[in-house]
Formats: sequence, C-alpha cells, structure tokens
Amino acid sequence: MHEASLMKTALDLALSQAAAQGARRVHRLGMRVGDLSGVVPDALQFAFEALSLGSAAEGARLDIERVAPRYACDTCGAEFDPAEELLPECPHCGALGGRLCRGLELELTSLEIS
Ligand SMILES: [Zn+2]
Repeated sequence: MHEASLMKTALDLALSQAAAQGARRVHRLGMRVGDLSGVVPDALQFAFEALSLGSAAEGARLDIERVAPRYACDTCGAEFDPAEELLPECPHCGALGGRLCRGLELELTSLEIS
C-alpha cells in the first residue's frame, strides 16, 4: 500500500521532531494532501492508526487538509481551478494548457506535542 510508506515517512518525521523537543506525546498531526497526489485520505488515516500503535503518537488525531488542483496560465499568468483536468482552459484569456501549481502536495504541516 502506497499510503503506508508515505505515512510512515510523515510519522517518523513527526516522532523525531517530538523527540528533538523533549515531548513525550504527539496529540495532533496536520497534513496537506493534494487531490492529484494520488494519495487516498482514508487510506492515509487507516495507515496512521495502524502505524502509530505503540508509538508516542498512538491515539493522536490526524487532520488531513485536501488541496484542490489549481493551474497557472502560461499566457496571461492567471491562476484558475480547472473544469477539465486533462486540458485545462484559462477562463481569463481562453488559452489551453497551463501549469499545475497546486494539487500535488503531500506534507506534514503542523504538529501538537507535549
Ligand atoms: Zn490565461
């Protein structure tokens, strides 16, 4: 399962940050997951619950913030939410294409420890 190894990396990072600050418990983790990252939030949640057992993060809350895809137009520079993801059309100037500037995130954004 793809999510298990990603979650393990994020959890290891959280646990090492907690340890570095002398904390004994992790209470909450915040993660940002892009809709196009290929990660299923439910699977991430499930992996977290399994992997955190017996660690300082056991019983902690995992908050997942989803990030909708967003494109930046190569022609006029406007950012827009694509109606069509494969060939997005800029609503400002009508140009086709553009760069994906949001939607691929997968990161640990916050941590509550004590
Ligand atoms: Zn444009």
